[in-house]
Amino acid sequence: MFVGHYSVAFACRTERNKIPLWVLFVAVQFLDYIWATLVLLGIEKLRVIKGFTEGSMLDSYFHPYSHSLITAVIWSAVAAFVYKTICGRHGCYYSKSAPLIIGLAVFSHWILDLVAHPRDLPIYDNAAKVGFGLWNYRDPEFALEIALLAGGIALYLTRNAMPAIRKGAVIAFGIALVIVQIGDTYVPRTPLSDKATVMGVWIFYTLFVIVAFAVEKIGRRRQTNAP
Ligand SMILES: [Zn+2]
Repeated sequence: MFVGHYSVAFACRTERNKIPLWVLFVAVQFLDYIWATLVLLGIEKLRVIKGFTEGSMLDSYFHPYSHSLITAVIWSAVAAFVYKTICGRHGCYYSKSAPLIIGLAVFSHWILDLVAHPRDLPIYDNAAKVGFGLWNYRDPEFALEIALLAGGIALYLTRNAMPAIRKGAVIAFGIALVIVQIGDTYVPRTPLSDKATVMGVWIFYTLFVIVAFAVEKIGRRRQTNAP
C-alpha cells in the first residue's frame, strides 16, 4: 500500500479536530518512517526483487520493530502521546479526541499494509506472519489505492471549509499522487538497493508532507487580511 495510506490522513481532518493535514501525513506513514530509518541503520532487512509480487518489488523479510502488530500498537500510542505533549506545551489548539485520532491514523497503516502485503507482517517479534497479499493482483491493488484516496479526498473537501483556490490545489495534489502511484505500479524499473529504496521512501514521503503543509496555507493570507 502506498498512496492509499494518505486517504486516512485526508479523511481524519475535520474542522472540529483541526489537526494539520501535514501532521496526519506523517502519522499515516509513521511506521514506514521508522522502517526506512531502521533499514538504513541495518537493523531491519529488506530485499528488492523484480517481480517479487505483481504490484511491489519489496521483500520485507525482517521488520519486527516497525511492522509487527504489537509494535504498531505501541508506536500508535507513542505518536498519540507525543502529539498531546507537543500541543499541550505549545498551547496550540487541539480537541480532546485529536491524540486518539493521531493514534488511529498511525495504526491504520498496519491495517492497510495487511491488505496489500504478502505474508510478511508479524503479529509479534518476527513470528506469526500475516498478509492478505493484494499486491499479487496488480490491477485490483491499484484500483483499491486510488478508490481509497479519492474517498479520503472527497471527505476532506466536504468536511472542511476552504476557499475555492485551495479546493483546486487539493484536487491537483490528489491527481499528482495518482500519477506517482501509476509510476510505482506500472512503470518498469530496475530494482535499487535496499538502502537506496528506503532513502527514496524518506524523500518522497517528506515531499508529500511539505506539499500537505503548503496546500493548507493556500488562500489563508487572503482570508486573514480581509477587512
Ligand atoms: Zn508499511
